[in-house]
Amino acid sequence: MKTVFILGAGFSKPAKAPIQSEIIQEILKLRSGNFYDKDVIIKSYLDDFEKFLSDELFIHNEKFGDVALEDVFTPIDRCIIDGISFRSLDGKNLVELREKIYSLIIIAIKEKLNSATEHKAYVNVFAKYLVAQMKPRMINKDHDPVAVISTNWDILLDNSIKRAIEQDDHNGVVDYCCYISSLEDDDTIKPGLWALGKGKYNVKLLKLHGSLNWLHCPKCQRLFVAFYEKIAEYGIYRDRKCKYCPINFKESKTVSDALRSNLIMPTFLKDLNNFQIKLIWQNASVELSEASKVVFIGYSLPQADYELRQLLSRMIPHEAVIEIVMREEIDEKTEKSNADTLMRYKTFFGKREVKSVPVGVENYVSAL
Ligand SMILES: [Zn+2]
Repeated sequence: MKTVFILGAGFSKPAKAPIQSEIIQEILKLRSGNFYDKDVIIKSYLDDFEKFLSDELFIHNEKFGDVALEDVFTPIDRCIIDGISFRSLDGKNLVELREKIYSLIIIAIKEKLNSATEHKAYVNVFAKYLVAQMKPRMINKDHDPVAVISTNWDILLDNSIKRAIEQDDHNGVVDYCCYISSLEDDDTIKPGLWALGKGKYNVKLLKLHGSLNWLHCPKCQRLFVAFYEKIAEYGIYRDRKCKYCPINFKESKTVSDALRSNLIMPTFLKDLNNFQIKLIWQNASVELSEASKVVFIGYSLPQADYELRQLLSRMIPHEAVIEIVMREEIDEKTEKSNADTLMRYKTFFGKREVKSVPVGVENYVSAL
């Protein structure tokens, strides 16, 4: 028996994480936030981002907040992959600009979540539940009852699982289901397979669209990870380099050792040449094929996520039970939007049993 949880933006919403359509507005708000005065780097990134919106996308200043994140990234990603220029920006400019926008996203999400610490309790409850479920694996390696697949970039759950494991004497690891290295020399950041070999347990968290706390070396394809605040302190916008490549490739000390972030638009997954993300998708497909129950939390099954939809369609067994955790139905509006979402799921999953759980994320988690 295995339960696979699939988390969408609605999982992080009670903790005040911005949904994707709000991220550009949150970035623009950094102008008036704490960062702006202190941080000349962030200020210059903001200037460059707004210049791009105005000069290249040709958007009116007062409409910047209405631009869809996909419309910023998809043309940039397309030009980088195809080796062509985007208006006045060549490939090198585009790679740099993309990294700056990623940095702004990381800071904007982090700032938003910092301002709402009191709303995160349910995330800790869920993390403790996952740890308790996986802990018996220390004795029995075949014990493998839960996995989490997330489409979110934020690291609310990642940090909560890490903390729950720390409170359990570091007996387990956060398992991103790919091969990771620690950004700093932190012994508690290890791959899941390493943990199992040491008689520890793993808590699987498969982040299909990448994560705020990941940096990727374009040369050796290693994925570097940090938890808590460290990603902002040491992270990408401080121009981090791979710690292995400058030693292994002494002859080619070039800019290509600079680590890159790993935030991926759902619309761009099929063009992906990132080995670690591919591995995560492969492992997610294995988890889904073993599921007896799949629980969707705060995920609306949008058409734009066609890569995830094809994965679900291919891998979930016919006899698996599908549960949809949706918003609490407090008025006609939430009832109607839940009914629309449920209909989308029922059409998609056809003859399978689809159960609606309209209690809200927080109530659902506390009842686990
Ligand atoms: Zn490297």
